[in-house]
Amino acid sequence: MPSTEHAASPGLPPGGERRKIDLPPPGRERRRGEHRAPLAATRRPSAPVRDSRETVVEFRGVSKLYGPGGVGLERATFAVRRQEMVFLVGPTGSGKSTIMRLLIKELEPSEGRIRVAGRDLDTIERKKVPYYRRNIGVVFQDFKLLPTRTVYDNIAYALQVTGASRKQIRSTLPDILRLTGLSTKLHNYPHQLSGGEQQRVAVARAFAGHPPLLLADEPTGNLDPETSIGIMQLLYRINRAGTTVLIASHDNEMVDRMRRRVIELKRGRIVRDEASGLYGAREENTDELGERLKRETT
Ligand code: ADP
Ligand code: MG
Repeated sequence: MPSTEHAASPGLPPGGERRKIDLPPPGRERRRGEHRAPLAATRRPSAPVRDSRETVVEFRGVSKLYGPGGVGLERATFAVRRQEMVFLVGPTGSGKSTIMRLLIKELEPSEGRIRVAGRDLDTIERKKVPYYRRNIGVVFQDFKLLPTRTVYDNIAYALQVTGASRKQIRSTLPDILRLTGLSTKLHNYPHQLSGGEQQRVAVARAFAGHPPLLLADEPTGNLDPETSIGIMQLLYRINRAGTTVLIASHDNEMVDRMRRRVIELKRGRIVRDEASGLYGAREENTDELGERLKRETT
């Protein structure tokens, strides 16, 4: 997915009124069922907290044709509820990125309907799209960091373009750096970081504005297995703190080990949608997940 603008859309609520990031430290995560405010309430702080099973993403019969013979997606129907962590799997060319790009309105569907937090994306005017995108954090396979800026500035810049003041940025950044394990790296430039650290910066940037929805397109595609575990743990922690997370991956083993819902695509069609291992499985905290992933990774 191109465009640094999307990468830098960190999800500040439109209107400038910012809540302080309220991620609990590791070990003090919210339990499932203990939710943060829904998307609509992010815009209107006084809105009542709605049903936690509320649908965040809804695709109904969505197709995307890229021209003659180029099928990106074919009649895809699925829904993702608040606080779910869902994996999109399937071989290269199966339509995973197409779903991501439709969600950030970088593409328009050829047919069908897409809703995010109840809002039909078709009804969002072009000029309002940047505001809409502030509700969605996006992480890419190739990090897409600004090479001439430090870790701190990469994250700060993403907040700045959404209108956050210096003061707001200064008060927000330490939390997000701590969450992502980057507190000692804030003065480093991207080329001074490992791939895993660079991806942490990208996750920090995507999550800095605390968006209710986070998309990650092959976030571990360029990373070794051990580093990938760290990134998955981080995404899991963000999910447990209340953010709905959608991850495209073709690392089937990693996806199986995560024991979350899996939507499988083949040539643009959904061929499987199952909550594998999710129901009945004991809820793990982030440390437990990391330990298990390390044990099960050979
Ligand atoms: P994935 O992310 O699963 O690898 P994509 O969503 O990128 O798959 O692509 C799905 C299909 O759409 C592929 O056949 C791909 O070639 C096609 N496609 C994607 N982007 C374009 C484009 N800009 N123009 C033409 N075809 C495209
Ligand atoms: Mg892709």
